[in-house]
Amino acid sequence: MSQYLTTIGLEFHAELKTKTKIFCSCPTDFAGDANTHICPVCLGLPGVLPVLNRHAVELAAKAGMALNCEVSKFSKFDRKNYFYPDLPKGYQVTQYPLPICRNGWLMVKDEDGNDKKIRINRIHMEEDAGKLVHSGSNISDSSYSLPDYNRAAVPLIEIVTEPDMSSAEEAKNFGETLRLMLAYADISDVKMEQGSLRCDVNISIRPQGQDELGVKVEIKNLNSFRAVYRAIVYEEMRQKSLIDNGIPIVQETRLWDDAAGETRPMRSKEDAHDYRYFPEPDLPPIIIDDQWMAEIAASMPEMPDAKRKRLTEELGLSDYDAGQLIANPPLAHFFDALYAEYPEAKIAANWILGDIAKLMNSTEKEYNVVPLSASELAFLLKEIKKGSINNNSAKTVLEEMFDSDKKAADIIAEHGFSQISDTSVLDSAVAKIIEANPKPVADYKAGKQAAIGFLVGQVMKETKGQANPGMVKELLEKALN
Ligand SMILES: [Zn+2]
Repeated sequence: MSQYLTTIGLEFHAELKTKTKIFCSCPTDFAGDANTHICPVCLGLPGVLPVLNRHAVELAAKAGMALNCEVSKFSKFDRKNYFYPDLPKGYQVTQYPLPICRNGWLMVKDEDGNDKKIRINRIHMEEDAGKLVHSGSNISDSSYSLPDYNRAAVPLIEIVTEPDMSSAEEAKNFGETLRLMLAYADISDVKMEQGSLRCDVNISIRPQGQDELGVKVEIKNLNSFRAVYRAIVYEEMRQKSLIDNGIPIVQETRLWDDAAGETRPMRSKEDAHDYRYFPEPDLPPIIIDDQWMAEIAASMPEMPDAKRKRLTEELGLSDYDAGQLIANPPLAHFFDALYAEYPEAKIAANWILGDIAKLMNSTEKEYNVVPLSASELAFLLKEIKKGSINNNSAKTVLEEMFDSDKKAADIIAEHGFSQISDTSVLDSAVAKIIEANPKPVADYKAGKQAAIGFLVGQVMKETKGQANPGMVKELLEKALN
């Protein structure tokens, strides 16, 4: 791409984590049977009036605060008119000239690993559309399609960046950073595979030295940031080859085909005037007064920068460990819960970043939270510290607790994992092993330090692995010296 410059802007749709839809009390859980979570309001039947969900406004404002935006004290809704069967009203309620948030930014790493500020133009609120269920595997091989309106009017925010990114790497970094910020702000599930976070790419290329931007192409159907990366690299190559061959680039929307690894034309791009936007007459403007704004700001959870500072400066974790925890919100939240009951930061972090992270990655399941009780793990770590269970047994206990309701104490009892720290029991085992192994004992007495390891092993065997190995070593040394 050396003789061409790439310009990329991104648009995200994030489903807000409300219990009910944006203008009615239907549940937002749209996974059930088709058309079971609908009512006259979200179907847009005649004579109904929408009532704005206050919580949706709060979550949209929090998204703005998380992304360094100005949150508007006055914003309003508009109607975006288009016809498609998944849109029951024939228009979508959205925000056009006066969105709820403006002028944000995020700092992300560019290709060379340097910080780069990417500006966010706006965040606006809108309602989601329903979906079409095709009789075949896709619309073109189906004899009919049926609409399911469960998802219609689930609250969304759309986040629009400025065209500040210039490579696939930067766009991917931006997307991942944005997803992390929304996850910490706790406003959305941000699961791209399940569609609660969706990303569209706007991309153009132009020859080095040309000021005017090239023709913009929009790419849709990207369900991971890996797909975003691959689609941009593909599109850079496609557009470059068109320009090199003197073929004009068409302004259009293209679909990413992940299996084929290519983009395909979908439709030529509409302009804003095609949608005949006009003010939504059934909804009053959104006015966030100073008190409400202060309440929303006070409800913001701890964001990654503050968390990093606390974990490193107050709790003494390394930058690396803090970074690993913060990059994975479920692990970071679990760390806080565990630390509250077992305030040894380094040990807690080691267990979480080691065994627990491994367990979380070992299944296909994607967890929003660590499926483990922090209190139970704290109990287990205290048992290790007391010497009443050894590390290896504790790992087995942890595996059994993961994703089950079993208590640590019950698993320890079931397996007979309680470690023997009773000196009278250990003394007799040690005496027995010394008597039975004259050769290693003589070796040790002659200065062969390594022989003690063998003797410890024999005592462990004698006690079926339940002896406290540290104590065994101590007792053996005492007996032999
Ligand atoms: Zn409804």
